[in-house]
Amino acid sequence: MKHSGAWLAVALLAGCRGVDPAAVEALLRPEPYSRLVIEVDYSPRAAPDFAMGDVLAARLGEVIDKPGGIEVVFSQSIEDVPRGTLRSGRELEALLAATADGPRDARTLVLRTLLLSGSTAGYEDSLGTLWGDEVVLLFADDIAAACAESSCFWALHYVWLHELGHRLGLVDYGTPALSAHGDRDDPVHCVEAGCVMGARYPGAQRVPAVPGGPDVPDRFGPACLADLAGW
Ligand SMILES: [Zn+2]
Ligand SMILES: [Zn+2]
Repeated sequence: MKHSGAWLAVALLAGCRGVDPAAVEALLRPEPYSRLVIEVDYSPRAAPDFAMGDVLAARLGEVIDKPGGIEVVFSQSIEDVPRGTLRSGRELEALLAATADGPRDARTLVLRTLLLSGSTAGYEDSLGTLWGDEVVLLFADDIAAACAESSCFWALHYVWLHELGHRLGLVDYGTPALSAHGDRDDPVHCVEAGCVMGARYPGAQRVPAVPGGPDVPDRFGPACLADLAGW
């Protein structure tokens, strides 16, 4: 099924061993960066529900230590492309360069997310990816097609937190796995039920316990949390 494909195949095929442990540590710990800013560039059709920023910051705050705060900053800085358009890697790099904000203070770590219409060559079957082990790419057209209208907020949240999980080195992707919870066929993903690091977007699993609440996993599961706590 198109919208449940592998998430990080290209990085693995290229022989990458995962995120640099020093980069994981810089994200997890209060030193040398006491504050985290997630810069989000989006195109009009890919515009998210901006309440997502607070939810995402809260989830991250459960696993990373940034006493200066976690802020998600949105800017509509990208032009839409027609559905089905594939950007090349070079076009994507040009887009990243064109939308980069200026440097911030030395205590602020900046992570970037691009919320894109269209897709990127090599990622046609993915809802998102961690580009270059650093930038989160979210393919809004494909995410919208994969979710039911009522749960699109949580679908986007799932993919976003999932890709940030890879940036945190999950699973065994820079952060050592302390237990065997990697997927046998796709070891950077987690087999625990209810964890956002699953290999495939699970689709709506149940009626939300709270109307409008998550109907797909919205957190890292115990095994992934234990890995992060192991630092
Ligand atoms: Zn993944
Ligand atoms: Zn997990």
